[in-house]
Amino acid sequence: MVVDDRLAGLLRGAARVAVLTGAGISAESGIPTFRDAMTGLWATSRPEDLATRDGFRRDPGFVWGWYRARRLAAAAAEPNAGHRALVALESQVPELTLVTQNVDGLHQRAGSRDPVELHGNISRMKCFDCDGPADRFHDGDEVPRCGHCNGLLRPDVVWFGELLPRAALERAHRAAGRCDLFLSIGTSNLVEPAASLPWLAASAGAPVIVINTTAEGQRPGPGIDTLLGPAGTMLPSLVHAAWPDLAPE
Ligand code: NAD
Ligand code: ZN
Repeated sequence: MVVDDRLAGLLRGAARVAVLTGAGISAESGIPTFRDAMTGLWATSRPEDLATRDGFRRDPGFVWGWYRARRLAAAAAEPNAGHRALVALESQVPELTLVTQNVDGLHQRAGSRDPVELHGNISRMKCFDCDGPADRFHDGDEVPRCGHCNGLLRPDVVWFGELLPRAALERAHRAAGRCDLFLSIGTSNLVEPAASLPWLAASAGAPVIVINTTAEGQRPGPGIDTLLGPAGTMLPSLVHAAWPDLAPE
C-alpha cells in the first residue's frame, strides 16, 4: 500500500498528534468488534443485558461471566502491527496523545506510554455499589465482593447510560482541540462523546486522517482524508511513508 506524499508530509510535519482508536484496531488481533455484522459481539448478545446497570442488577452472574470470557480472550490476544505502528509514531512525534475506546489493554501491551482510556479497562474491577476499586484482582467465575462494603464487583468499563471518566474525557478534548493532526482509526463513530472528537479537531482546523475498512459512518468533509483498509496494514504504511528510515516492526 502506497500512502501519498501529502499525507506522509502532514504526519511528518505535525508537532502535536491526537489519535483515537476503536474496536477496529484490535480486530486483527482476533478481538471481535461490537458492530461488525458477522462477528460482532452484539450479534449474539443484547447490549441492554450486558452493558447496563439494570442488566447487571438483573443477572450479575451472567454479566460477570460474559466479561470474564472477554477478559480471557483479550489476555490471550497479541497486539498487532497497527498497535505497534502507534508506538513507533509516538517515538517520532514531539507530543502524541493516544485516546482509545478499547478496553482490551492491547495498546499498553504493545508499549504505548499513557493511553487515555475513555471506556475503562476490562482487566480492572470496581464496586457496583460504592464505586471503589477492587482491593485485588479476581479471576474466578463467581461474582466477587467488595472488600469495603461487600457490594458486588463489576468490570471497570463504561456501560450505556454512564458518564465517561472525567479526567480521561478532558484529556481527550484537550488533545483534539489543540492538535496539528488527528488520526481516527477503526471506529464506527456511533458512540458519543468519542464520536465527536475527530470533528472537534477538524472544526479547530486540524487535518483528519481516517483509517477504516469501510467509509460507512465516516463523515466526509474538507480536511478529512480516508484511507480504506485494515489498520494493521494502513498504519504501518502511513508511518513508513513519513519516516522511511524507521526500522520496520
Ligand atoms: P465498533 O465495533 O462500533 O466499530 C468498529 C469499527 O472498526 C467499524 O467502523 C469497522 O468498519 C472498523 N474496522 C473493523 N475491522 C477493522 C480493521 N481491521 N482495520 C480498521 N478498521 C476496522 O467499535 P467502536 O467504534 O470502538 O465502538 C465503540 C465501543 O466498542 C466502545 O465502547 C468500545 O469500548 C467497545 N469495544 C471495545 C473492544 C476492544 O476493547 N477491543 C471490542 C469491542 C467493542
Ligand atoms: Zn463497595
